[in-house]
Amino acid sequence: MANDTIKIGNVEILHLSDGMLEFDLCNFFPTIPGESWRDYESHLTAEHKVRFNLGSYLIRSAGRTILVDTGLGPRPADTPDVPWGELLRDFTAKGVRPEEVDMVVMTHLHRDHVGWNLTADGARWKPTFPNARYWCSRTDWDACHRPDVQPQRFPNAPTCVWPLADLGLVDFMDGEHALTRDLTAVPTPGHTPGHMSILVTSQGQRALVLGDAAHSPVQLQEPDWVSRADMDPDLTRQTRRALLDRLEREHIVVAAGHFEAPGFGRIVRLEGRRYWRGL
Ligand SMILES: [Zn+2]
Repeated sequence: MANDTIKIGNVEILHLSDGMLEFDLCNFFPTIPGESWRDYESHLTAEHKVRFNLGSYLIRSAGRTILVDTGLGPRPADTPDVPWGELLRDFTAKGVRPEEVDMVVMTHLHRDHVGWNLTADGARWKPTFPNARYWCSRTDWDACHRPDVQPQRFPNAPTCVWPLADLGLVDFMDGEHALTRDLTAVPTPGHTPGHMSILVTSQGQRALVLGDAAHSPVQLQEPDWVSRADMDPDLTRQTRRALLDRLEREHIVVAAGHFEAPGFGRIVRLEGRRYWRGL
């Protein structure tokens, strides 16, 4: 198994996982005809489904500990056998305590990126990461409060995101935003209106925590394939194309939370086509 930790200059990036999700192709990529997948069978499960890791990244930089994304959250009591809900167990397995986290950064506010933000404490909510402040884009914050989009697009926001304001724990990112000396949030809109990717820069080396700017390595070759989760298809395509160009051109290491774990790799070009090369 590939290594769960990489170093970018002085910065350490540790992969953590909340488990996985699987979807039928026609469900997740409803506009892509089945036969278009013929060249990409190797990216599918034996049952012809897409499987997504629910990856988070713990970044240690200049004395700070930053958790990017918090998975889908605790397993519901009525469906105890789902293959997710593993994040805190993975913390323990990798020797990290939730108390160590001093910033939680959400690439966006979809349900599989905010699930462990808060823990039920009787009728109230308490932060799962008790020493952290929580950062999200103001544009996504506004979107997840819009009655016309919230129920479908941000279904767990009322329990996993909204209470952060009452607890006084939320900080907003407006446009490109310096989080620490080494970390900058970069707007990559389309998947959600305020979607952010996190650029790590240290000692001349760089990595990008991608968020959901791509869900599958197939989209390196088919950047126009949008999923039902991409809220603005045209902007998603535009953002993804520009981002892939930059990642390839500048040889930036990528941390892709939904690619096969741990999701570290680079975009390389072979005979004119782009490929994912895991580290
Ligand atoms: Zn996602």
